[in-house]
Amino acid sequence: MTKVIYTSHQNQLLDGAAFMRNGSQYVDALRDGRQVFIEGERVEDVTTHPAFRGAVRSIAHLYDVACDEQHRDTMTTVFPDTGERVNVSYLIPRSQEDLARRRRGLRLWAEQTYGLMGRTPDHVAGFLSGFAAAPDVFARADKDFADNVVRFHRFAAREDIYAAYTIVPPQIDRSKPAHQQADPHLYAGVKEERDGGIVIKGAQMLGTGAALADWIHLSSIVPLRPGDEDYAISVMVPASAPGVKIFPRRSYAHAATSDYDYPLATRFDETDSLVVYDDVFVPWENVFVYRDLDLVQAQWWQTPAWLLGNNQAQVRLSTKLDFLTGVAKQVAAMNGVDKLPPVQGTLGELAAHATMVNGLLLAAEYNCRIDDDGVAWPGAAETFASTALAPEMYGKLLTVVRDLCGGGLIQLPSSVEDFDNPEIAEQIERYVQSPGHPARDRVRLLKLAWDLVGSEFASRHHQYEMFYAGAPFVVKMRMFQNYDFDHATTLADSALEYDDADDRAPALGVS
Ligand SMILES: Cc1cc2nc3c(=O)[nH]c(=O)nc-3n(C[C@H](O)[C@H](O)[C@H](O)COP(=O)(O)OP(=O)(O)OC[C@H]3O[C@@H](n4cnc5c(N)ncnc54)[C@H](O)[C@@H]3O)c2cc1C
Repeated sequence: MTKVIYTSHQNQLLDGAAFMRNGSQYVDALRDGRQVFIEGERVEDVTTHPAFRGAVRSIAHLYDVACDEQHRDTMTTVFPDTGERVNVSYLIPRSQEDLARRRRGLRLWAEQTYGLMGRTPDHVAGFLSGFAAAPDVFARADKDFADNVVRFHRFAAREDIYAAYTIVPPQIDRSKPAHQQADPHLYAGVKEERDGGIVIKGAQMLGTGAALADWIHLSSIVPLRPGDEDYAISVMVPASAPGVKIFPRRSYAHAATSDYDYPLATRFDETDSLVVYDDVFVPWENVFVYRDLDLVQAQWWQTPAWLLGNNQAQVRLSTKLDFLTGVAKQVAAMNGVDKLPPVQGTLGELAAHATMVNGLLLAAEYNCRIDDDGVAWPGAAETFASTALAPEMYGKLLTVVRDLCGGGLIQLPSSVEDFDNPEIAEQIERYVQSPGHPARDRVRLLKLAWDLVGSEFASRHHQYEMFYAGAPFVVKMRMFQNYDFDHATTLADSALEYDDADDRAPALGVS
């Protein structure tokens, strides 16, 4: 097997075969002078700041896992034309088996974070791979955008980059199109052309992971109207580019009192940011779409980009539902109720949802479409079905787990420090325990469950599952557009084929 020997942060290996970076290389690259502001202050170093360091460590761990020789077959793929070995998330799938290979790698990554980090590097990698899989779409523009998407994909894979994205304008006044907002530079858009590129001004929401990423993809997925051309762009921007300012929401990791009390928030709070592009220069080579209302939409729907990116999202959701089900089962067992038939039925309901989401993933592979260029697109109806059901399903499942856990989620010591106070520790150890689960173990499991279903971190996850793929009504509309209604309505019509003469339904199976 190839021994992984890094020569520089450029990730090039001595044998020239593999282009993977490890966790410490990722962390080093974040010390780049990026402008991140939180709680009224500029963050000097996201890798050490308490709001971000836990999430940085988790992402670094993912890179280490991908570099680990034992995961080489799962986590890497080889570009057929160059023989370069890269992260599997940059694979352009060409068969059902390629999609399965990709899923196995994404799943291994998702399990490292229990599906609780949505925008790990494999998410936008799926979009970049989808763009590069369909250069003809970008070739419709009279510039070199087709070359740009192919070159950037190759660059991103070779450098093993982590890209976040901001593709939705900030909520200011949704009743007006972009160009009719009170100021033309509220939504991020083109301010001017300069030698060698364009200047962007304005803001975009809601860059999950933007503070932790190397690059940010800036574009628009919301439909734009004539007059909005300046906002119809798709560009790649380094997170540390002059003028990029990242404003994360309140950090749940920073607010957490200890790892023991908030075992998930402290490790997996990827943060979501308003990203301001304050006169940011983008060279032409990093532009994929420029002032083109049709192309800015086509990039999502006429390439496999949206499906590949959201296939990753479904792998992550599937992992998260298995985790949720596992935590619920352990709490029920600890409370001594897991043998009761109604409780088993409730656990079965959780398991049914987890199985359904995983089943849709497998069905999306089975029903993949191979396009004229030989690229495999995951099944659209299956992918949209999962995203359309998730917003309501996730909230319902949180309620199911809360129901199973009862007041035990709340009847907990205020913090791990209570165990260190001899005046109360004995009482806690006496009254907060279950057979086979001394107090510290019982509390550890229930604090985990609370951080999963009830804490501020958990509540953000609920909002995430409702909105990360777009507002629920939009996602359901996409499901409407991608379901085979012809087949369904033909079935419905066939049931109406009565013989008008006697109003009797035809006897089935009798000619
Ligand atoms: C936790 C989290 C993480 C996110 N991460 C990212 C990210 O990494 N990158 C990114 O680009 N975006 C991200 N988003 C943003 C996400 O894409 C948007 O929230 C989503 O597209 C919906 O847009 P909106 O929030 O502006 O809601 P709106 O479009 O304002 O809709 C809000 C609600 O208003 C109502 N409504 C609005 N318009 C209509 C209409 N025409 N008809 C009927 N009802 C309507 C609906 O009830 C709708 O749910 C994230 C969001 C969340 C919550």
